[in-house]
Amino acid sequence: HNSKLPNVGTTIFTVMSALANQHNAINLSQGFPNYPSNQKLIDLVNDAMNNGYNQYAPMSGNLDLRLAIANKYQRLYNSTYHPEKEITVTSGATQAIYCIVSAFVRPNDEVIVFKPAYDCYKPAVEVNGGKVIPIQLSAPDYKPDWNEVASKLSSKTKMILINSPHNPSGTIWSKEDMLRLQKLTEGTDIIVLSDEVYEHIVFDGEQHQSACLFQDLKQRSFITASFGKTFHNTGWKIGYTCAPAELMQEFRKVHQFNVFSVHHPSQKGIADYMQDANTYLGLNQFFQQKRDLFLSLIKDSKFKFTPSKGTYFQVLDYSDITDENDVDFAKRLTTEFGIASIPLSVFNLNQKDDKVLRFCFAKTDETLLKASEILNKI
Ligand code: PMP
Ligand code: GLN
Repeated sequence: HNSKLPNVGTTIFTVMSALANQHNAINLSQGFPNYPSNQKLIDLVNDAMNNGYNQYAPMSGNLDLRLAIANKYQRLYNSTYHPEKEITVTSGATQAIYCIVSAFVRPNDEVIVFKPAYDCYKPAVEVNGGKVIPIQLSAPDYKPDWNEVASKLSSKTKMILINSPHNPSGTIWSKEDMLRLQKLTEGTDIIVLSDEVYEHIVFDGEQHQSACLFQDLKQRSFITASFGKTFHNTGWKIGYTCAPAELMQEFRKVHQFNVFSVHHPSQKGIADYMQDANTYLGLNQFFQQKRDLFLSLIKDSKFKFTPSKGTYFQVLDYSDITDENDVDFAKRLTTEFGIASIPLSVFNLNQKDDKVLRFCFAKTDETLLKASEILNKI
């Protein structure tokens, strides 16, 4: 048949995790923690199931959870989102991203995507008939060239997809970057999709620059978030999106026929867990310790790196080790050395020119130690 997505295969996360399992390798590829999720949160979800939260949640999400999310934005960013009209709970950030794109992008609309880009952006645009306009971010700081962005905006630009802290590079956008974006899109009806799933994982005392902090930008932005990243339970697939009411209304037209609503007991459990205002405290530090441990353990290896500034990923440059392309090297590392990572080229919209691999450090200290012993021998 005539595929709508002829160039899409199985995601690299599935491929590398399967290869890691097959070869009993340490799996630093797919981004997920290998330590237990928070017990109090698990108990609260069980309580929700035992207390009858077993039928459909409201289409836009459990109201306690939407209230808790609205509270978070008020407290952390002094930014108001109306819980009834401007917040929708989704099945992870992935579903939110897909439905945001579907709700707005028509055939031949242009969508600006910064690459390396998280793997679900491009297919979401293309299955809707949209055209990805890529803009390259380059090592080591992966900062956008705003003049290039300006030159790529056109009357066909429907949406700009941004992601800070950035998967895979682990870099973050500054206030100046966000102000440039705000200025460039001022007076247009371009929609900004700001993927902020790593908002609570920012290091070295830096501040996350949420799109909601910029008043004008906020008016045309969707923010997407994921509790999987924040509360160490990627398997629950609960996230949310926030946007001004007018935009959210269009989003919900798609969301309601895509999933209608998402897993109810975990929404209620997360809502109860978020009642504690300290919920988010310490997460930055928790992951910074893991980053620091990982990097101190491999500092004398042949891999080169700039420390990650956010996310739970670290990219390592292997150009001093081999000329192999990153997909081949990542596979060989898994099968011959017993450590799995993600080749960066898959985020680069299929250019295979980087000598860089991404490693996830959301792992126990013991796993990081074992991983470093292997990396130091390569
Ligand atoms: N965006 C980015 C940048 C991500 O890293 C991820 C998860 N790896 C997602 C979106 C998807 O999040 P979820 O698992 O909640 O769907
Ligand atoms: N977001 C995770 C990562 O970047 C993977 C999610 C997935 O497997 N789809 O590794």
